[in-house]
Amino acid sequence: MLYFDHNSTYPLCAEAREAWLRATEEFIGNPSSPHRLGARAAAALDGARETVARYLGCKPEEIVWTSGATEAINTAVAHLAATRAGEALVSAIEHPAVLAAVERYFAGRYRVIPALASGVVDLQWLEAMLGKVDTPMVSLMAANNETGALQPWREVLTLCKGRGVPYLCDAAQWIGKLPSDGLGECDFAVGCAHKFGGPQGTGFLKYNVENGLQSLLVGGGQEEGHRAGTENVAGILSMVAGLETRARGMASGVEGTTGPAKEKVGSASFESDVVAKHRTLRADFCGRLAQAVPGVAFTLPSEAEALWNTVSVIMPEADDCRQRWVVKLDALGVAVSTGSACASGKEKPSHVLRAMGIPAEEAGRVLRFSSGWETTAEDWDRLLEKLVLADQALRRSRA
Ligand code: PLP
Repeated sequence: MLYFDHNSTYPLCAEAREAWLRATEEFIGNPSSPHRLGARAAAALDGARETVARYLGCKPEEIVWTSGATEAINTAVAHLAATRAGEALVSAIEHPAVLAAVERYFAGRYRVIPALASGVVDLQWLEAMLGKVDTPMVSLMAANNETGALQPWREVLTLCKGRGVPYLCDAAQWIGKLPSDGLGECDFAVGCAHKFGGPQGTGFLKYNVENGLQSLLVGGGQEEGHRAGTENVAGILSMVAGLETRARGMASGVEGTTGPAKEKVGSASFESDVVAKHRTLRADFCGRLAQAVPGVAFTLPSEAEALWNTVSVIMPEADDCRQRWVVKLDALGVAVSTGSACASGKEKPSHVLRAMGIPAEEAGRVLRFSSGWETTAEDWDRLLEKLVLADQALRRSRA
């Protein structure tokens, strides 16, 4: 099967699988247990915490293990809603995990930051609003899961820092794909393993140790009282192995380095050869798709800054929605998505595309192709071939 759905979930990489298997043999104790096997598991978690903290640029004690991005987001939002007055500012294009958590915990106490046709949020609107209202939280993701549009999160971080406003950055789609520097400076930053080749059901929340953190779950006192429940030791060690693999991969092509060259890889403008290669594959595919399938359009303008792996396309008119494209492509051996995995299957057009001003009818025809680090030029060629075949078949069935 040709897999172009990495934004939904990324297959477990070899290093992460190996780390998981090793951990299930070596770290069999409960990290909270008082005996040596427990201490060994706790020490392994400490090491993992240091690695993630180094990657993000924060203190190890600011990392809390969670079951994924959804739990991390809910924890941060619930904490801020319980401890701060005022109206939260939340971007219109956030993942449902953020929008639903804000709806629940800030009920009636939030405003939506509008998005522009370019796929990014309206920074001017946010800047003007930050001066006007008492703000307990700004929430803006790093990269959008549906369109791949990179958000001006570093600018928002600076704005929030200057005004002492807590900033929550959902970096689930950014981490493991692009340099991480700045993420550790966010009051809250969120990541999950299954977007970069670690196991599903594992993630983390970076919080600001000076501001504290209320636990969302109640029970035991694990994670210094910030997250009740026995830690998923093997999952966490596997996640960290995946993260290290991505950091090494991203650094490849940097002159004179064999591992992550922090000063270079960490720079916002730096792009390694390997990222540049994937960007070129993506751009070539977009150009060829526009030629090969009459009537396609892209949800982002060509000059938009986007993840190197994500292409979001408005497919030509079909008598019924995008599900038909997905089913057809599946039958041809290609896995793609209609947008976000969570929204798939729902008939409602994507809130992200609607916020960008894309009409509901067009939003209903959007497909998302998301590649991985292992995806080759030949894979993109095969995807294009299958799209041409699917297009021909769907046109015939409409005739
Ligand atoms: N945030 C973003 C941007 C995502 O893409 C996803 C997953 O689709 C999530 C949050 C939720 O992640 P998880 O499945 O780990 O809870």
